Amino acid sequence: MLVVAIPLKQVIQQYFCFKCDKKYEAIEGIDAICPTCGSRGKCIKNLGEFLLADKRDFIINKVKVPLISAIIRLVGLIKIKPTALNCRHPNSLVLLRMWERFFRSEANEGREPVERAISEGSIYEYEHDPYYARRLDWVLEEINKRKWLPRESGRPRGIHWREFHDYTKDT
Ligand SMILES: [Zn+2]
Repeated sequence: MLVVAIPLKQVIQQYFCFKCDKKYEAIEGIDAICPTCGSRGKCIKNLGEFLLADKRDFIINKVKVPLISAIIRLVGLIKIKPTALNCRHPNSLVLLRMWERFFRSEANEGREPVERAISEGSIYEYEHDPYYARRLDWVLEEINKRKWLPRESGRPRGIHWREFHDYTKDT
């Protein structure tokens, strides 16, 4: 009997070697070998999965924790709080009202300092820097055009969120 070998389609994927801390390309397969050190790498096909895998502790401890504390500290250097009386642009008032509403729902003391800093920082930036303010306008216009999906019914949920919206009235 004649057996004809049909070559399988070879797909090149990007992999990451945690030993070398480098990306490399290899033929798709589970844990393709790093050409530099011979370790098994991790396929970078699913960004969320990749970030939550071996890099999770690195991202939390080396990226997020220092970034969050820098945001809180640096925004805290600005001592005047944004209010409806000291903001000039109508969109800053939209941001103010949106953040006020957000903090009526948010109920997590641990997360609140960085969220407060981001909320105040977004208004400072919008008020004082037209370069980024107009680009933020563009980003928000584009999000509207591209039909950003609404949150799923009942989300966020849990003890850290007070919900005022009645989901039973969703159609
Ligand atoms: Zn390697």
